[in-house]
Amino acid sequence: MAEFCSQCADKCFEYADIDLFRIAISLNKGRSANFICEGCNNRALYKDEEGKLYLAKLIDKKIRLVPVKIDELMAVKESN
Ligand SMILES: [Zn+2]
Repeated sequence: MAEFCSQCADKCFEYADIDLFRIAISLNKGRSANFICEGCNNRALYKDEEGKLYLAKLIDKKIRLVPVKIDELMAVKESN
């Protein structure tokens, strides 16, 4: 079954299989959580010792850490 993270799920789907916001708030400092999103290149979420969040993205077959803010991880529903 295909799984999609909350950064891309709300563009195409009703809900996210991989809830990045929930992962972010439950992640301990210095830890990372791995997942495979089939909708984008997000591969892991990492929280450093200061509590800063990074998305590990697969870009050109290399993992790159991209800083993110917690509110960028919330699945934002468009209000009609
Ligand atoms: Zn995704």
